[in-house]
Amino acid sequence: MMQHSSAKRLTIKGIVQGVGFRPYVYRLAMGMGLKGWVLNSSSGVFIEVEGQAEQVNKFISQLLDQPPPLAVIKSCQVEDIAARHFDNFIIRESQGEQVREVDVSPDIAICADCRREVRDPQDRRYGYPFTNCTNCGPRFTIIQDVPYDRIKTTMNVFPMCRQCRQEYLDPLNRRFHAQPNACPDCGPKAWLTDSHGRICEIGVGDVLKRGAVLAVKGLGAFHLAVDASNREAVQLLRRRKRRDAKPFAVMARDLAAAYKYCLVSEQEEAWLTSRQAPIVVMKSLNNPAIPGDLLHPGLNTLGLMLPYTPLHYMLFDEELDLLVMTSANISDEPLITDNDQATSSLKDLADYFLLHDRDIFNPCDDSVLSISSGNSTDIIRRARGFVPQGIRAPRLKTSASILAVGGEMKNTFCLTRGEEAYLSQHWGDLSNYHNYLNFTEGIARFKQMLAVEPGLIAHDMHPDYQSTRWAKRQKQVRLVPVQHHHAHMAAAMAENGLQGRTLGLVLDGAGWGADGSVWGGELLLGDYRSFNRAAHLTTMPFAGGDLNAQNPYRMAFIYMYQLLGDRAFEYLRWMPELTRQEGEVIIKNIQLGEPLSTSSCGRFFDAVSSILGVCHINRYEGQAAMELEAMAASHACGVYPVSVYRDTDGLIMDVSPIWLGIVHDLENGHHSAHIAMRFHRSLAALLTEAIRQVHIDSGIDQVVLSGGVFHNKILTQMLAEALTELKLQVYTHRQVPAGDGGIALGQAVIASEVI
Ligand code: ZN
Ligand code: ZN
Ligand code: FE
Repeated sequence: MMQHSSAKRLTIKGIVQGVGFRPYVYRLAMGMGLKGWVLNSSSGVFIEVEGQAEQVNKFISQLLDQPPPLAVIKSCQVEDIAARHFDNFIIRESQGEQVREVDVSPDIAICADCRREVRDPQDRRYGYPFTNCTNCGPRFTIIQDVPYDRIKTTMNVFPMCRQCRQEYLDPLNRRFHAQPNACPDCGPKAWLTDSHGRICEIGVGDVLKRGAVLAVKGLGAFHLAVDASNREAVQLLRRRKRRDAKPFAVMARDLAAAYKYCLVSEQEEAWLTSRQAPIVVMKSLNNPAIPGDLLHPGLNTLGLMLPYTPLHYMLFDEELDLLVMTSANISDEPLITDNDQATSSLKDLADYFLLHDRDIFNPCDDSVLSISSGNSTDIIRRARGFVPQGIRAPRLKTSASILAVGGEMKNTFCLTRGEEAYLSQHWGDLSNYHNYLNFTEGIARFKQMLAVEPGLIAHDMHPDYQSTRWAKRQKQVRLVPVQHHHAHMAAAMAENGLQGRTLGLVLDGAGWGADGSVWGGELLLGDYRSFNRAAHLTTMPFAGGDLNAQNPYRMAFIYMYQLLGDRAFEYLRWMPELTRQEGEVIIKNIQLGEPLSTSSCGRFFDAVSSILGVCHINRYEGQAAMELEAMAASHACGVYPVSVYRDTDGLIMDVSPIWLGIVHDLENGHHSAHIAMRFHRSLAALLTEAIRQVHIDSGIDQVVLSGGVFHNKILTQMLAEALTELKLQVYTHRQVPAGDGGIALGQAVIASEVI
């Protein structure tokens, strides 16, 4: 009987480059005796395959059901074509075209096979810091253009040696078409210098064990490393970096070492060992072998990651299992990626430099996340390992591409193509000019990478955000201003696939309100198109503006004065940083009718943190609130009265009973740790009561929680439990940060609705 034959053409889109897709296709086709070819192009992977009909179908279903582990197939178009009677199956040369719809893969942490090789003295890649294969290695950080081919990466200056080329060309090899493939003979090299640029022949581990500060050029930027168990070294790094409070991230030699310093849950272990290999913020075990008071002052958590490139293995040895690994940038400056720039700008910070000659094209910070009590992932910074993977947002209209330029602090932007939203890495605070330049450069690169030209730009309503100013300078593009907290709410809705009217509880530090005041403790009711401010925290005078955000003690005084009048001066003993004179100036401004006011929840946390003596001055963003959470005693009971009342501009979630309760407890000598817990519980009760009332009035039962305050686990858990008890559906962020790093997604979705 004659066998049915068939010929098909497949067009596949998604993350299909740099993930071993073509070799996989090749092996699959060869194994089934099929003929044809596979081709990488900037608009996707094309396959023509012919042979027995049954085998061809089996080939297609297996490819779609079990693609290679790192591939993400978004679409596969299959057409019947005329058979061309190929002799074999080949991988054809890549094509560059006008249409570019293929996704660039994020960087991928070293795989188990490569790890084995670099540790095997018999292997030719023993100890080689740039070992990679199709399943792991640099991607986004070295890609200059699409389609992804060595020639379009910063590896283009390293011609492969004969052996590497053989691996690259052998379809059965793990390095078949691995674009950054390299070995000690042909690839990039790493070297150690002192701060004068002199080559050092000593081991990297020895430098660290001496207590020196080492600048390390990594995957997406430079880090500063010191031995985390060496108190003097950690202190030296703090002093030189002029970073006296912000917690340092650490890198542990391996999982066993991580278990010595942190309480690691199953989910946390899964993230630590994932291909994204982020910094995971976990409960510290307070192991006395490391100076916890210097690594994470005032906090009970430690942000830890595992080595994610073979270069990192060079840093550890038998006596060294935990290193501080902090970004080498100076305070709010951008990441450092370049050798010359590092040796000049870090010469007073680092004693030694571990450099290499593979250029970093796209700077990318380490990602940071934590696991919340409900076992969901709370992304704090979405960068290396995640960017530039798209986020599916089906609400996006597919016609025009949208650029959403994000906020000011922790800026990220978002560019859309079809139903995908591509969120950038973090650019930091855009009020720093260098960060701003990187932001604009990043936009140009994302446009090229995605081959889109946005027809619409969404921006925050704040007129003084640098992102807003940039948007307003763009010509011939329609602008859509988006209210800050509406963007937060929409981001949470979009990533959870929600539609229709929703309650959005948005708690953060500050955002430009629709009425021109500073919002930050908002319960919004609405959808992607519009919203009402259904409830908000008591509005407080905000005499001094940003000065108050830096100085929680000023906020404590404002609360005291607003709620207790002149009796505020009786409590100056609890505000040691405040002089009577500064207090009087604040009062004068309030009495003169200071125009600024705020409903910020972040500032409420600051005020409470200060009055409890926890933190009077924020030396990094969120310090007072984080330390307040860290010291709250879980066993403490009690709750302050809750008051929600109606005012001309909606429901007011009244902070005064909580504040007065705290003052009363303090006067009666209650322990701050107990009061801190009571504060969390009372705030959760207050917010729940407002949501309950709005839910009853509106009949709406889906609630999203957004804003940086929701990185607070105690509050998030209490709220989620209370709202679930009210039979409401509660949604939190899982893919983008709850803080301002996530708002660009919300801006984009809102803009797509109002076209
Ligand atoms: Zn590998
Ligand atoms: Zn080689
Ligand atoms: Fe915000």
